[in-house]
Amino acid sequence: MIRAILLFILFAVLYQAVKTVFRAAVRAAQDPSDTGRLPGEEMVLDPQCRTYVVKGRAVIRRISGAPTHFCSTHCADEYERLRRR
Ligand SMILES: [Zn+2]
Repeated sequence: MIRAILLFILFAVLYQAVKTVFRAAVRAAQDPSDTGRLPGEEMVLDPQCRTYVVKGRAVIRRISGAPTHFCSTHCADEYERLRRR
């Protein structure tokens, strides 16, 4: 009986280890250009005022289905208003 419990624990630990390795592999496969930079450091272009903003701090609006990044809500509102005309 003890043997069965020990086997169970062994499998549980192995499962966790495999899961951790698998998750790391998936992450590496999804972003091969990953050079250790933080995801928030990526720069995106504000189509309204044409300035580059850090993606992590940008205002995101869905413009005709595509997420578009802006430096501020002011630019986002302005861009949507101009597009609507
Ligand atoms: Zn802007």
